Parts: sequence; C-alpha cells; structure tokens
Amino acid sequence: MKMEFELLQMLEGIPVVSSHEHHLETPAQQALDLDGIFRRSYVGWCSLPASASPADRAAWLDSIRANSYFIWLEKSLDTLYGCGPVTAANWDALSEKIRAAHRDPSYHWEVLRRTAGYRRMVEDSYWNPGGCAGNPEMAASAYRMDCWMAGFHPSVRDHDQMNPVLLLGKMPETFDAYLAAIRQDIARHPQACAFKCAAAYERSLRFLPVSRAEAEAVYGKSPACTTPDERTKFGDFVFSYFLQLAEELDFPVQIHTGLARLSGSSPLLLEPAVAAHPGVKFVLFHGGFPWFYEIAALAHNHRNVYLDLNWIPLVSTEAAKSALHTFLEILPDSSHLSWGGDTWTSEEAYGALLALRHVMASVFAEKRRSVLYSASLVERLSEKILWENAQKLYRL
Ligand SMILES: [Zn+2]
Repeated sequence: MKMEFELLQMLEGIPVVSSHEHHLETPAQQALDLDGIFRRSYVGWCSLPASASPADRAAWLDSIRANSYFIWLEKSLDTLYGCGPVTAANWDALSEKIRAAHRDPSYHWEVLRRTAGYRRMVEDSYWNPGGCAGNPEMAASAYRMDCWMAGFHPSVRDHDQMNPVLLLGKMPETFDAYLAAIRQDIARHPQACAFKCAAAYERSLRFLPVSRAEAEAVYGKSPACTTPDERTKFGDFVFSYFLQLAEELDFPVQIHTGLARLSGSSPLLLEPAVAAHPGVKFVLFHGGFPWFYEIAALAHNHRNVYLDLNWIPLVSTEAAKSALHTFLEILPDSSHLSWGGDTWTSEEAYGALLALRHVMASVFAEKRRSVLYSASLVERLSEKILWENAQKLYRL
C-alpha cells in the first residue's frame, strides 16, 4: 500500500485538463443543495429517496452505498464539506453547507480550479450546443452534432429534446441551406474545438455511406411518412458531413460508445466509419464499457482512434483498472489516451477525479511491482493522461 500512497501523492500534484464535462452554468450551480447534487449526478440515474423523510433517506442510502457513483460522490462531499458518511441524520446540515458555499457564484469554478486542479476542460452543453458554461477561459466546447443528425423535420427532437429549429429560430427551406446552417452555427462558436456525437442513446453506431440525394429525399418529410431506415440514412449522411468538417477544421470527433442503448452502442460498429475516414481523429468515450477489448482492438488497428477514460472510474472502479491496464499495453501511441469527469457539478467532477487517481495509482502500482514499468515511465504517463494528451488533442 505504500507504493499506492506515494503514487497518489504524485498524482495529486499533477494539473488536470478534462476532455469532457457537462458543467452547469452558474445559476444552476447556485441552486444546488444535497438533493440537487444527487439529482444532477449519476446517482440520480439509479434512484433517489422516495421522499424527504428520514426513514426514506435512510432506506435509499442503505440501497445505494455499494454503488461506485455514490462512493466517489460521497468521498468528494466529505473532502469539500467535512461531512463524513452521508446519513439521514446529517442530510439537512450538509445540504445547508452546500447552499451556503454556493452563495459565492465563483465557488463551483474554484472547486474545479483549486481543489481538483483543473486548468482547462472541454464542455459538452448539449442543451446549448457549442456553449462553454459561461467561462471561455476555463472551458472550450465540443459542438454537439446530434440534433442536426436527427432534425430532418421541425417536429423531430433528438434524445436530449434538441432540434435545429431551437438553434436557428426556423427550419432552413432547403437541404443545401440546412447544411450551410451547420457550418454557420459552428462558426458562431469560436470556442468550439471538437465535435461530439451521443447518438448511441437513440440509434446504432453503424454509420454507413449514404448519397446526398437519399438524405435530401428525407429532408422536410413528415415523420409519419418516413421509415426508420430513411431516418437512419439521414443521420448517416449528416454524420459524414460532420466528419468532412472535422477533417477541414482539424476537430477531433468525440463519440459516446457503450452503455447507452446496449444493442447498437458497441464500438466495433464504428469500424466502417473509422476505416473510411483515416484523416479524422475518432475519440471513443467511456472505454466502450462493457466492450473494453473491442475498443482496444480498434485502437490497435486504426491510428486515427483515440481512447477516453471519462466516466469509467465512476461506472465501475474495478472495471476501469482493467481497462487502463489494457489500454496502456495496447495503444501504439500513449498520446492517444485522456480523461474527463463527465459530470454536471463540481462536487461530482472532483469525485470522478478521485476515482481516476485511485484507478491510476492501483494500476501503476501493479505495473511497478511487476517491473513492467519504471517509475519515470509512470510519471510520464500520468502527465499525459491527466492533462498533456487532452491539451494537445484539443489545442487548449
Ligand atoms: Zn458525457
């Protein structure tokens, strides 16, 4: 354990550049209390207390304590607010401490900067594509392509309830104008440094070549008169249009893989697109969980694949260790590995970083004990994963 402890100390001294956050803007951060933090975290995806009664809070805590999302969020809350384990008895007092801290509008940024050591981050505000959480000094942005892939008709929404009409005010009259509007909207966001595709929540990741005429034939059609195949083809064409733009702008393309709709989110489905666009940097998110080996194989065979560890240490800390071992061993270039918090609040972002450091310390200790990696290699890889790779890839 001595080695893990020393490694953790080393990791704590390294600054962070996060490749992926959904950080809420200041007014939403200032409205947070303990219930709000749970609601805006992955814990809230699992369940929440049935009511604010002490009995319901205690029952919920009893059910959730073993879960990785909860464990790391609680560790963060303990560090930030000195609460110890969250219980029904200290719930309201902790909630008041959180509210009091957030009265300072800059508090949430200070937690990222001072406590977590963030220097920069790439923001994915899917509710405001291309936005940077109101802080362009800290955040560059990943421009979301999803609503454009889904938006062949003004009544259609993507899985985040977005549609191009919400961005433009009205639907472009022609398909040509629609494609031009994509370019114009990206140009309106000078802080954009990447594209992001989270379409795995609503469709398969098998993107196939589609002619412009086929996509144009779907444009403006009433959704009731379209087939699933036509809608998929429209998305395929717009996806490939974004890949062209990515090459032109030298924007990495971040793609959600794994753990969305489980049938259809395996990273291997992306291989045709990855192979057809060698000039595009595909950044595959979440280690493709549960398909670590598949995503590692893609990175082994295709030099335009980058792997991103964001979210995995929170999903399953043990699985993240196995993923990190595999990725380090298989990547032809260790500059193709980065990390992001993938969170909405600073409290959870810090917890995600604690989880990552725990994973890195454990994996590096094993690599050191087995004499596969030297101390200096471990230090170099730590710098690369925590900030250098993301800073270079996204030109931050
Ligand atoms: Zn995310």
